[in-house]
Amino acid sequence: MQSCSTFLHLQSILSIQNVSKSYGPIRALNGISFDVPEGSVFGVLGPNGSGKTTLLGIILDVLKANNGTYSWFDGMKHEDARRQIGSLLETPNFYHYLSAYNNLEITAAIRQHGLEDRERVLKLVGLSERQHSKFQTYSLGMKQRLAIGAALLGSPKVLVLDEPTNGLDPAGIAEIRELIRKLNREGITIVIASHLLDEVEKVCTHVAILKKGNLLLNGPVDDVLRSEDQLEVKAADMAQLERVLQLMSGVKKIRPADGMLQLTCEGIEPQQVNEHCMKNGIVLSHLQLKKRSLESKFMELTN
Ligand code: ATP
Repeated sequence: MQSCSTFLHLQSILSIQNVSKSYGPIRALNGISFDVPEGSVFGVLGPNGSGKTTLLGIILDVLKANNGTYSWFDGMKHEDARRQIGSLLETPNFYHYLSAYNNLEITAAIRQHGLEDRERVLKLVGLSERQHSKFQTYSLGMKQRLAIGAALLGSPKVLVLDEPTNGLDPAGIAEIRELIRKLNREGITIVIASHLLDEVEKVCTHVAILKKGNLLLNGPVDDVLRSEDQLEVKAADMAQLERVLQLMSGVKKIRPADGMLQLTCEGIEPQQVNEHCMKNGIVLSHLQLKKRSLESKFMELTN
């Protein structure tokens, strides 16, 4: 994870409770529950067919869940909440022979937003300089930025994006990533569906991992997609164990969990931790390596 909004609060902006959805015999979502914290960039991560688009469709009132509920802004009426949410589920149809400026005029009129918002939005998505060029002359990245710009009309507090980097080249992907970070810094909570671990890891603060309609894990990206080696250790005198480990180089972080200490290590082997403890008069009663790369963890979770 690289970006973390300065507006990150723990308050939930969206709460999803036990949501299920079937298409005939196909169970697309199976009792999904999680909260999206205000100020987060929240990734809904999962392979194709895991139910991401269905979930976004439900929270945007485009699809109806068979079971469960969801609530925006602490129980605000859905019609009122929708006015505070910008979304991009499918690529909008822009007129190829019109400029970004004129295309947004049409979008603003359809959505009943004032025209004055256009320039703010074009600046926000970095299209001010090209706003009068025809849409057909834009790169794919610029087209996608315009689509996000259209979703930003009306100054929504939340932006919901389905696979926003699909089909883009690395430069276009980087542009969208930067834009998402910038919008988040402006205080917008962003929910992104993606099948790309890399994208979620680089831009999201929080993640929910779906597999075949089931929620596998959710929480801060740092916790859920931990890439470093983790060691679990335990000894009779836990306070002394912690003091001793604080002195060991290679131990980057120590976190008490479930009556043990969880160590985040770099460049040291478990036996070295054991030796260090022995030398300092501590006999470990438990020592377990939890070694996983991000990729292997994701594959293991979703495969
Ligand atoms: P992708 O990344 O491929 O879009 P996804 O994670 O967004 O996948 P969904 O599109 O929500 O997943 O699909 C979840 C499951 O529901 C899949 O098995 C899909 O085939 C099925 N599904 C989605 N929409 C429909 C529909 N309209 N009718 C029947 N089945 C559907």
